[in-house]
Amino acid sequence: MTDAGTGQPPKALEQFDIAGRSALVTGAASGIGLAYAEAMAEAGARVTLTDVDGASAEREAARLRAQGYEVRADELDVSDRARTTQVFDAHEAAYGGLDIAFANAGLGIGPGFWKPEGGRDPQGQIDTYDPAIWDRIIAINLTGAYNTMRDAARLMKKSGNGGSIIATSSNAAVICEPIVPMPYMPSKAGVSHLVRHLALELGAYQIRVNAILPGPFVTNIADGSLKDPVVRKAWDDATLMGRIAETYQIKPLALFLASDASSYVTGAQMMIDGGMSLGRLG
Ligand code: NAD
Repeated sequence: MTDAGTGQPPKALEQFDIAGRSALVTGAASGIGLAYAEAMAEAGARVTLTDVDGASAEREAARLRAQGYEVRADELDVSDRARTTQVFDAHEAAYGGLDIAFANAGLGIGPGFWKPEGGRDPQGQIDTYDPAIWDRIIAINLTGAYNTMRDAARLMKKSGNGGSIIATSSNAAVICEPIVPMPYMPSKAGVSHLVRHLALELGAYQIRVNAILPGPFVTNIADGSLKDPVVRKAWDDATLMGRIAETYQIKPLALFLASDASSYVTGAQMMIDGGMSLGRLG
């Protein structure tokens, strides 16, 4: 890779430049997805914020437009495969292609087998857990990620310009978290392994596929339970740094993976969890 003007290899910061590229983010109305969308816009990309909550996606897009960024919004439930294709096509029509896609939408509903304050949760055991919650988590977290990456790959292959696909997995893809609903663990392990497989398949097209594995971040996930002091303390204590994260802290990693700064990174599982997956201190 050389700089077009000078024939010299690009400098480090130049490789983070995504001005003029376009990005689509799922689950972009809140939390980590909103941080991704902001990071892309702040770095000069044109962005489509998509979310099952279309009104909130439009509200956030309007807020970013008021700051001078080029963004649009679209309503998308990622478990709806036909709608996913429509929304990607609308992005392509608006911005002339797709360079960066975040398969981020996800949720963690239902009880874990262990309560945040300690003790078994009677509703969260393998034999008491409501199977409808399993179906919903898998449909959104895993099948939704497949639906999203499927259409991202379709548009990127069509353009012939390569691209970067980034999925939000979780450190729960690697470790098991007793206070998190059980289906969340296999849903994220599935996302992480899908990323590895697609990296293998799509590398020849210069399409890079990587996963971000967050630990606990303060968002609206699990009905905002990470904002509850008891739940928050359980997560603070689980990290080596003694504190859960704020979403602005994920933006530089998103920009690294989205940009040419990671031009030789594909199939990677980028852990950002305050060391939580290494083990507990106490
Ligand atoms: P959040 O609830 O703040 O944001 C999730 C967004 O996804 C919401 O705007 C919601 O409306 C949207 N959404 C939910 N179902 C959807 C669907 N079917 N289609 C499209 N959009 C949908 O939560 P978050 O923490 O920002 O979660 C984002 C991603 O990060 C998820 O995949 C989650 O599993 C992952 N994650 C979060 C944490 C954490 O601690 N917050 C840790 C690891 C992984």
